[in-house]
Amino acid sequence: MIKNKTMDKLVSLCKRRGFIFPSSDIYGGLEATNDYGPLGIELKNNIKSLWWRDMVTSRKDIVGMDASIFMNSKVWEASGHVNEFHDPLVDCKNCKSRFREDHIDLNKNCPDCGIRDWTNPKQFNLMLKTQYGPSEESSSTIYLRPETAQGIFVNFLNVINSSRMKPPFGIAQIGKAFRNEITTGNFLFRSREFEQMEMEFFVKPDETSEWLEYWKNFRFDWYKTLGIDGKKLRLRSHKNNELAHYAAACYDVEYEFPFGWSELEGIADRGVYDLKQHSQHSGKKLTWFDSITNKHIMPAVVESSAGVDRTVLTVLSDAYHEEKVNGEERILLKLHPRIAPIKVAIFPLINKNELPEIADNIIKELTKNFSTFYDSTGSIGKRYRRQDEAGTPYGITVDYDTLNDSSITVRHRDNMNQERISIDSISKYLADHINKVE
Ligand code: ATP
Repeated sequence: MIKNKTMDKLVSLCKRRGFIFPSSDIYGGLEATNDYGPLGIELKNNIKSLWWRDMVTSRKDIVGMDASIFMNSKVWEASGHVNEFHDPLVDCKNCKSRFREDHIDLNKNCPDCGIRDWTNPKQFNLMLKTQYGPSEESSSTIYLRPETAQGIFVNFLNVINSSRMKPPFGIAQIGKAFRNEITTGNFLFRSREFEQMEMEFFVKPDETSEWLEYWKNFRFDWYKTLGIDGKKLRLRSHKNNELAHYAAACYDVEYEFPFGWSELEGIADRGVYDLKQHSQHSGKKLTWFDSITNKHIMPAVVESSAGVDRTVLTVLSDAYHEEKVNGEERILLKLHPRIAPIKVAIFPLINKNELPEIADNIIKELTKNFSTFYDSTGSIGKRYRRQDEAGTPYGITVDYDTLNDSSITVRHRDNMNQERISIDSISKYLADHINKVE
């Protein structure tokens, strides 16, 4: 009960402060879709750009790409998605609700109507279809990609021929994916349209176990750099009966959400499955020529597949805090400064006597490097509270003392401590604090 309450409060804060809105809100919404508002998109972009920095631009062994969402249907036949990408579905005969068989206990009653009368499980393909082409007659049916990974595999040759990369090396991409999920819910956790951050690492086939070991640790540690509580993160190894059709071994990074431990990312040894399938179906030789051994080698793949939206939900759940201050409730998001949508808010104590002009000049300087927010209305206490809920780590107040000594107050979101520093040193002060890893 309490756990669900936490989710409800988070959903409500997200709407109130402009992080996430239900999609098509004025028309009553559309199940399992969400829109990112002004703060949400900043948070999401910050997470994606840190992933891109840590997985692509700061590394010599990984390159990026961006494949289209629409792909030739043969891709999905070759990848196994047409035949294998199913979830087991059961219906309640009494109330007609549908469930994923592995998400409920068939020995128990239906959670919706309380009666036990299940259909036999049947397989349901999760790919969404659409018509591609200008008219019904001339168009063909294609799939909306259920994962971004296949865009990487089908470009394997293009990338090695153009970039001079050789194993061990990776190709990374961030993009939308679509799945016709049987049961959705838990806010951003499971939706039908979502974003993935995927990296396929191509290695010599006898080196997969050591790279799986490397990537599972690297990826697990990455979440901690976003400021997520390490005690709520764990790595879980897949049992044999859980493994996807292509995987030889797999680890999930899991987070303890208010609704329980659930997957954030999968790190899998896909072996040579994908390149082999695409080689067979396309007739193209998807190999790399090893000039040392003079042999053509089909590399094996270790994959890191993370969800952008699940990471957003994780950092929001982790950051949500309630506390009592002088008898009043304070709600705050303790987002790591690195991912916070607004880094610093600037408040002139009152709206006259040159204070707004000074605040304006400070903003002009700070916006060169930081996302800022200017707020001159309401009591200073209320302005602080609004920014606490937005997860803004620093608040700067320009007051009467500023007129005399060119100093301002910096207020820290988490402990509400205040310190006085000179206007000239703010930029450096913020840069030092924001980049500090805790
Ligand atoms: P689950 O078992 O939860 O359905 P999965 O094992 O099918 O997930 P993968 O195919 O491994 O998921 O996808 C990789 C990542 O993509 C997941 O770890 C998750 O972060 C994200 N993802 C997958 N499906 C969804 C979804 N419906 N909504 C949001 N994110 C998703």
